[in-house]
Amino acid sequence: MGSALGSPENPLRVAVVGAGPSGFYAAEALLHSGKNVVVDMFERLPVPFGLVRYGVAPDHPKIRNVIKIYEKIAEIPGFSFLGNVTVGRDISVAELKNFYDAVLLTCGAQSDRRLGIPGEDLPGSHTATEFVAWYNGHPDFRAREFDLSGRAAVVVGQGNVAADVCRILCKTPDELKNTDIAACALEALAESKIQEVHMIGRRGPVQAAFTPVEIREFGELADCDPVVNPQELALNPASRIELESAQELRYKKNIEILQKFAAAGPSGKRKKFFVHFLKSPVALVGKGKVEKVVLEKNELIGDPGRQSARGTGQKEELDCGLFFRSVGYRGVPMGGVPFDERRGVISNREGRVAQGEQIVPGLYVAGWIKRGPTGVIGTNKPDSEETARHILEDISGLTPCPQPETGLLLDRLKKKNIRAVSFADWKKIDAAEIRRGAAAGKPREKFVVVADMLDALGQPSFSKGNKF
Ligand code: NAP
Repeated sequence: MGSALGSPENPLRVAVVGAGPSGFYAAEALLHSGKNVVVDMFERLPVPFGLVRYGVAPDHPKIRNVIKIYEKIAEIPGFSFLGNVTVGRDISVAELKNFYDAVLLTCGAQSDRRLGIPGEDLPGSHTATEFVAWYNGHPDFRAREFDLSGRAAVVVGQGNVAADVCRILCKTPDELKNTDIAACALEALAESKIQEVHMIGRRGPVQAAFTPVEIREFGELADCDPVVNPQELALNPASRIELESAQELRYKKNIEILQKFAAAGPSGKRKKFFVHFLKSPVALVGKGKVEKVVLEKNELIGDPGRQSARGTGQKEELDCGLFFRSVGYRGVPMGGVPFDERRGVISNREGRVAQGEQIVPGLYVAGWIKRGPTGVIGTNKPDSEETARHILEDISGLTPCPQPETGLLLDRLKKKNIRAVSFADWKKIDAAEIRRGAAAGKPREKFVVVADMLDALGQPSFSKGNKF
């Protein structure tokens, strides 16, 4: 019998699928566990960092500083990055099990929820996900077009993603030009004719999901005034209880900021950012494209902390040529892996993938695909640590993989003409992007085409026998 997995002679081999925050935090927890662990991190794009690169708004660069932590994690002995490899297409989860003792899926929530209203698929109606990925230069979304020629845009949802989308639409080109926003997006936004951006919340101001820092920024924009109708800030008794008993300060701060906006009124800037409460879109209307949204006025029902929106039947219409739904992300099923359709996550128990009552041996999840699309980047750290702990607890029961060699896996990928990208390769792409950006006074100009990312590399650095 061979030595135990995780012993000095026999590393525990873990494939992490997805190179976003939860993948990196899980890798760190495993590699610092005191056991002998090898982590190979797979990513379908040649570049790492997932939503930190493609989800965080370009005008919020400080949030991206967390990348420095991930770069340090990538230096821990035992870690390898295998970019440009799509698990589920280039190699299946079942095949990965030939090469790894455990497979940990950290592929995030790649889709979005729908509203289920008539007209939702009219041209001019989009998801926030598409817009965010477009302005962040995601290769899959670089060719998207958004009609910015109308006067008004409507964004449904009041989370921080909705706030990001509204802010990008409200900013001037000067406020964006020195960020790492994709060049094609900056160009299109510079021509934007949008003068009104409406953010629609189905519930009241106490229930808004945005955070104070994000909403406060709308009072500091160069050429846009926030507009809040004071009547919509009136609270029902249950909301007053919610506000008074809230443990987190953010609810009170949100209300204070909104009250300030309402009291100040517009100051004459060219654009207006309207925040609406207690309204739901019930239809999108237009001849061949979105021309207006029909909103229904809501009232809140239920106990404090559990209030939901109920339509009153009272309708109003808002002209708009551009409509975004920003009502939360949703996970995407992966071939052969049990999926909870209702929650949009991979079925799991504290990170152990579960099929009904049965735990699926050797298969784990962390991050949004485990718990749903909630929390800030840092929320993923304890979440990933929990899953890493369970992998290590299970170590003696794991079936050792038959081919414990990354080189064999790379050979197989090479035969399929797939060029895996190492972390050293990524650093070359990184340097090339920074050089491209410098000329335009930007921190970087991202490559928006995968082939261009690969062209920025010299010879492949992965070969059998090399350190990965
Ligand atoms: P979110 O915070 O969950 O917000 C979703 C919003 O959609 C809520 O206002 C929700 O209202 C609304 N909604 C859901 N279903 C709806 C429907 N059928 N009709 C109308 N409205 C509906 O989600 P998110 O904005 O996508 O953000 C995801 C996570 O990323 C959050 O944890 C967020 O804080 C984080 N994030 C953080 C930052 C940052 O720190 N700067 C930036 C971006 C994202 P109800 O409350 O009524 O359900």
